[in-house]
Amino acid sequence: MILPKSNRLTREQVAEITAIVAEFGCKIQPIVGEMRTIYAIVGDERDELMINRLEGLAYIDRIDRIQSPFKLMDRRSDLATGRLKLGGVTLGEELLVIAGQCTIDPKNGNYFLETAQAVKEAGAQALRGGVWKPRTNPYSFQGDARSLEILMEASRRTGLPVVTEVMEQEHINLALDAGVHVLQIGARNALNYSLLRQVGRAIAGRPTAVLLKRSIHSGPLNEFISAAEYIVSFGNPNVILCPRGTAPSIDGYRNTPDEGITPLLKEKTWAAVVVDPSHSVGKAAYVPACALAAVAYGADGLCLEAHVEPAHGIGDDPKQAVTPAVLAEIVAKARALHTLVRQPAAVA
Ligand code: PEP
Ligand code: MN
Repeated sequence: MILPKSNRLTREQVAEITAIVAEFGCKIQPIVGEMRTIYAIVGDERDELMINRLEGLAYIDRIDRIQSPFKLMDRRSDLATGRLKLGGVTLGEELLVIAGQCTIDPKNGNYFLETAQAVKEAGAQALRGGVWKPRTNPYSFQGDARSLEILMEASRRTGLPVVTEVMEQEHINLALDAGVHVLQIGARNALNYSLLRQVGRAIAGRPTAVLLKRSIHSGPLNEFISAAEYIVSFGNPNVILCPRGTAPSIDGYRNTPDEGITPLLKEKTWAAVVVDPSHSVGKAAYVPACALAAVAYGADGLCLEAHVEPAHGIGDDPKQAVTPAVLAEIVAKARALHTLVRQPAAVA
């Protein structure tokens, strides 16, 4: 990773380093961070001669050779200084609450518009709503592009940024054209590298962020972080890690709650961790406890399913969505806990 002395290199300087690394079979990928742009060397970056030549350039500060399976996502990476902002919240400083319906019902758009207003009043700073849905049964409702209009109308009315899941290039194009702020990659696609590549390429050079769910198949944490790294490697570092429970193992819970991995993720990577307790436990009654547990573990935010009338929802909402009143209670307690958790330890 090339760290320049200035905030970013000039076109001529980029051309010069590109020509140098090309001699060693490598390419340059700029990653535009909040503070400055860094330049990842794509390929085998270990050649001493290449490094010496780059470090010899007057405008280069140093070449960072982090020995890590995920050099960009590593806590020691230069990208760690950047902080993602969403809905007026700086992640890592204030708790981010994303809430809204699992699925937007295209035939009953008013529910979503009411839910959006209600979750805002309950304290959410971002809105979630599924337009396209991955389903266990392919004959189940898989979404409707009309729901995208409802999502964006809710965003305009509330002023909140919106999150929606994409599963293919067409969804990515439609969502970005409509102005969706955060693209979600769901648990079933979390390791679908061609989708990660499509999303990474599509958001490069845009302010868009990605909410990357943890794979339903669990797997090592390095795999989760490396999937995020792959998205970032196309140039946009705005990736959020979202544990959402892994394959079921506890009778009564939809999945196996995994908010407890938060401290481990934070030890390895600088990325913000926003936990989804709704898909984790899968039942509204257990969501508040799981949400607070996530905050106790150090999560930077929560992504919750909520609905003004869960019984009239579609997708996961009848089972999982909390009401706005419950959401307000979760938000109040979670904020208080977040402040408590961040107080400096009394003992070293
Ligand atoms: C969702 O957010 O509604 C969803 C389907 O999530 P996951 O991919 O975590 O199951
Ligand atoms: Mn859902």
